[in-house]
Amino acid sequence: MTFSSTSTQANPTSLTTLPGHPFVAYRDAVLHVEDVALSALASQYGTPLFVYSKAAMLSALAAYQRGFAGRNAQICYAMKANSTLGVLQVFVKAGCGFDIVSGGELERVIAAGADARKVIFSGVGKTRSEMRQALSAGIGCFNVESEAELDVLSAVATAMGLIAPVSIRVNPNVDPKTHPYISTGLKDNKFGVAHEDALRVYRHAATLKGLQVVGIDCHIGSQILELTPYLDAMDRVLDLVASIEAAGIPIAHIDFGGGLGINYHNDAPPEADALWLQLLTKIDARGYGDKKLMIEPGRSLVGNAGVCVTEVLYLKPGAQKNFCIIDAAMNDLPRPAMYQAFHSIVPVNTPGQDGASTTYDVVGPVCESGDWIGRDRALSVVAGDYVAVLSAGAYCMSMSSNYNTRGRAAEVLVDGMAMHLIRARETAQDQMRQEHLINGD
Ligand SMILES: *Cc1c(COP(=O)(O)O)cnc(C)c1O
Repeated sequence: MTFSSTSTQANPTSLTTLPGHPFVAYRDAVLHVEDVALSALASQYGTPLFVYSKAAMLSALAAYQRGFAGRNAQICYAMKANSTLGVLQVFVKAGCGFDIVSGGELERVIAAGADARKVIFSGVGKTRSEMRQALSAGIGCFNVESEAELDVLSAVATAMGLIAPVSIRVNPNVDPKTHPYISTGLKDNKFGVAHEDALRVYRHAATLKGLQVVGIDCHIGSQILELTPYLDAMDRVLDLVASIEAAGIPIAHIDFGGGLGINYHNDAPPEADALWLQLLTKIDARGYGDKKLMIEPGRSLVGNAGVCVTEVLYLKPGAQKNFCIIDAAMNDLPRPAMYQAFHSIVPVNTPGQDGASTTYDVVGPVCESGDWIGRDRALSVVAGDYVAVLSAGAYCMSMSSNYNTRGRAAEVLVDGMAMHLIRARETAQDQMRQEHLINGD
């Protein structure tokens, strides 16, 4: 689906959409997010600049909502994908719950207006103080990842005179066929409780005074592009639901995690509604269709809603390689350096007919050879041009750093023709605020 042109010109606007990026398109040779030209945003706010489409987020969410129509289901946005307040607000207003992985994320999402009862807390290393914070806030569920964590959580809750609602993250031991760093459901991952230990751990949880078992959860990995791992994992989880309930421990909800991939580079992930049609058929066939269902999508809700606009600083021809040096770097866009990930890089203004292209390695200014954003890219650009790094809505700003004392980029949320600055560019003063010179000589 593409947005409709709102142009009032006599000549219809020429429109070229980018596959997989329904709200990003060239209009009259200038790249737009919804109705806003990226060249205009870049000159107004500077670069590097993250630009997000609100409509793209809501349309990605709508695919899940269609999938769960008529069901007792809760969509919990995994906010580590992009935790900027203005982004969270979009999902709060749309009625989402949230999956958090730290006390900091809890504070953020409450600041964005979320209802703590719709928040679930995942992660292998929750501290006692994070547990107390989440219990005081009244969060909906702790997704517990080890037996030791169960004991600590029960003790913390008991000391506060509270009962912690828990679900245990089980590890279905299926291969999601994704990058090893974002695969989480195999036996040798640090996440979750092994399938064969799950029943024993549930029995133990049921004996702990400070806990109430409410659900079961799993999350097998990220950027998953195939249906089979999901279907296999669901079978394994439903097998456990049967044996846990047979042991007299009721399971009120099944939380199937996140992980659905997006199109970065000719990728063809299943649509969220098509995926859930298949999963729900399986759940119904096994007689669990009345249970509350929860999911924790992150990347698939925001990844292709965002682009990063950056300026070409220098072109540097070389004997082996030509370099295109841009003003965004690995501190802004860490995925290539971390996972050899691919992001499309496209010009903001499409070149004319005669614009012959050159093959470049697109790199940032950071003092590391790992600071590359794209390799062997054919581009027709000159210094001063803007280029857009696509699929930059997930795991970019939320993973960004201040390495090389680079201020974090600004962020703009576009909504039709309206634009909202949701994060101002970080200054060196901002970065130094918590630091102290040593007093004395
Ligand atoms: C990261 C994470 C998610 C979200 O994963 P995506 O691939 O972004 O959908 C969901 N649940 C848990 C427990 C996670 O750690």
